[in-house]
Amino acid sequence: MVTLKGAEVSAKIKEEVQEILGTLSGEAPKLAIIRVGERPDDISYEKGATKKMGNFGLRVQSYVFPADISDTQFKAEFQKINEDPDVTGILMLRPLPKQICEKDIENMIDPEKDLDGISPVNIAKVFAGDRSGFAPCTAEAVMEVLKQNEIEISGKRAVVVGRSMVVGRPLAMLLLKENATVTICHTRTKDLKETCRNAEILCAAAGKAKMLDSEYVGDGAVVIDVGINVDENGKLCGDVDFESLEGHASMATPVPGGVGAVTTAVLAKHLVQAWAKRNN
Ligand code: NAD
Repeated sequence: MVTLKGAEVSAKIKEEVQEILGTLSGEAPKLAIIRVGERPDDISYEKGATKKMGNFGLRVQSYVFPADISDTQFKAEFQKINEDPDVTGILMLRPLPKQICEKDIENMIDPEKDLDGISPVNIAKVFAGDRSGFAPCTAEAVMEVLKQNEIEISGKRAVVVGRSMVVGRPLAMLLLKENATVTICHTRTKDLKETCRNAEILCAAAGKAKMLDSEYVGDGAVVIDVGINVDENGKLCGDVDFESLEGHASMATPVPGGVGAVTTAVLAKHLVQAWAKRNN
């Protein structure tokens, strides 16, 4: 079984980013990371994204607000960042605290700065098969893993486990755009094992530690694990029991070291694309 390493995909995306950067003059594009509160998951993602932007030669600034900021106050702050001409793109860490209406922010964000595809305009484009907007970075990261490893998608049976708006649904749409035959599974799916076993490309985005083992994987399948979970020993793991796949899958992404590393590279790519669009 071939291990599909996120770092290798990220390095290829870096080349693409540098190619676009080479065509630009002036200051590097700037990413605004918006964080409300001190959730460890958010801080960890922010650190990873900040490091990646630095590594790719891009500017980044974090905007951190207290967890108890009011809806009105946050919206006023958000709008300042949204309208700041020095900010090329925005990553807002979610979920936001309950007192803030996330839907309103989704409607407010400038679609041209919406690097993680949360605005209705960008979501509609993903669902319409129009690739001119920004898709959610994680869903796009799965596509990059497949494409950069030259894994054929067209005509293949692809199964996505998970139907969230962040990963499962947009990923299913991106696979469909590439002419895969797509099945979406979720908590009410009755024949999950059989459905997964029938997949030629199996994408796991359920958020359940090691729930898919070799019994869910057909011979020669390509397995992409989006899950980020902790196992019973407190160790980071995916939705797939990676070790059990040997002798079953043809290729698989590990966790850590798989899709996660690619997600921030896609964010960087979206940032330079936003810059290029604005300056064209
Ligand atoms: P979510 O909880 O919003 O959605 C999970 C989906 O999986 C739901 O649609 C649910 O129906 C389905 N599901 C859950 N248990 C299931 C089961 N037993 N059988 C079948 N379907 C089941 O989670 P999410 O935000 O979509 O994230 C999914 C996973 O991806 C999480 O582990 C998350 O940490 C990870 N994630 C990774 C990245 C990355 O950069 N790699 C980014 C975002 C999320």
